[in-house]
Amino acid sequence: MAVTWTNWVGNQSFEAEEIVKPADEAGAVAAVKRAAVAGQHVRVPATGHSFTPIVQTDGMLLDLEQLKGIRSVDLAKQRAVVGAGTPISELGEPLWDRGLALRNQGDIDSQRIAGAIGTGTHGSGTQFGSFSASMTACRLITASGDVIEVSESTPELLAAAQVSVGMLGVMTDVELQVKEKYRLQENFGYESFEDVMSTFYDRVARHRNFGLFWFPSEESAALYNIELPDGASAFDMCNVKVFEEVTGEVSDSDVINHRVDRSYRIYPMVYDPNFHELEYFVPLKKGVDAIRELREYMLKSLPISIFPMEVRTVGADNAYLSSQYQTDTMVISVSGMPGTEYWDYLRDVDALLGKYDARVHWGKLHFLTKDQLLARYPMAEAFIKIRRELDPTGMFLNDHLRQLFA
Ligand SMILES: Cc1cc2nc3c(=O)[nH]c(=O)nc-3n(C[C@H](O)[C@H](O)[C@H](O)COP(=O)(O)OP(=O)(O)OC[C@H]3O[C@@H](n4cnc5c(N)ncnc54)[C@H](O)[C@@H]3O)c2cc1C
Repeated sequence: MAVTWTNWVGNQSFEAEEIVKPADEAGAVAAVKRAAVAGQHVRVPATGHSFTPIVQTDGMLLDLEQLKGIRSVDLAKQRAVVGAGTPISELGEPLWDRGLALRNQGDIDSQRIAGAIGTGTHGSGTQFGSFSASMTACRLITASGDVIEVSESTPELLAAAQVSVGMLGVMTDVELQVKEKYRLQENFGYESFEDVMSTFYDRVARHRNFGLFWFPSEESAALYNIELPDGASAFDMCNVKVFEEVTGEVSDSDVINHRVDRSYRIYPMVYDPNFHELEYFVPLKKGVDAIRELREYMLKSLPISIFPMEVRTVGADNAYLSSQYQTDTMVISVSGMPGTEYWDYLRDVDALLGKYDARVHWGKLHFLTKDQLLARYPMAEAFIKIRRELDPTGMFLNDHLRQLFA
């Protein structure tokens, strides 16, 4: 039966022929085999927290919401195998109960783990890669309906699968590198742009997780529910966010003065679905120059550029389509207001950051062309070759992905 699917923020909506919700991997295999016989396209939806049309299909939506939970843990290697449909928010407590935790997390924890892995979802901190870099193995149903084991003993396949936006097939289980459980202390600062920029790289080196929101106007902070000190102005100021790992006992005063809690309770923020986000990654060394230039441009472009600029960092990895492929990166994101004509503004941001060889977040708005893909992602051709071998008919492609990866 035809079904209409809409993403979380409401900027992507389409009609698929059917939605299938298998109870287990065998059910998912059967669905892929049936689609292969029918010549149907297949895409896996997760929680729809991507802004790009990367779930879209005219065929079958294969929803893995029932494939969730922790399958096994290896305490010696600090690894956990989890169902691909597990929400990140359902990993924190069961991992903690086993003495483990995710190494790093992003601004929200609503995504399913395979959705986050598929797009290179990340937190902040150059000592950490993205969720994709934490994936050490997975079980993948390919277009033929075969299940293949991807692992460190298949390094090229693993590097292709880690950031694959659902194009290599359907992941059913994923193995994650985790770490010993830890608590975080959260600290917020309120500082001028210049003060933060003049010490930016030092702060990146000193802190576990360092990130900031810069506000181009007085109204900007409220758009992301960010609280400032009483009576403080947001205009041209930064909200600086630092998380440090707490070792040893936590005293009551720590908890009162600075929020201290289990790591998975500290990371997530609360966002309203009021923004359409673009996020680009530039080599860390060029980052401060890039955001200085972007700040000038945003101040000139008001009011269309009213949303905060968020700045984070992510450490280098080896995944073929990763924005951090062999490069530490600065992550820069800006947003357009739904219902306004923000496309010219975002296109200008694309051109401005393009001068810094920006790579893109696959789940956030971008304008990447095939030529830019090949120029900025050294392993893009290697990815495309593996994709064609695993899916010669393009079962897992859609219009948006075909332009770049056919
Ligand atoms: C409010 C908000 C905050 C965000 N914060 C961050 C952040 O801090 N850091 C960051 O990097 N990003 C962030 N994002 C972006 C978000 O993390 C990514 O877009 C992520 O991919 C969304 O996960 P999802 O579970 O909703 O997946 P979806 O958007 O539903 O799917 C993402 C992709 O994964 C594929 N997929 C899902 N499951 C499977 C599977 N089992 N097998 C194969 N393919 C699969 C889908 O087909 C699709 O291509 C944020 C987005 C929002 C809306």
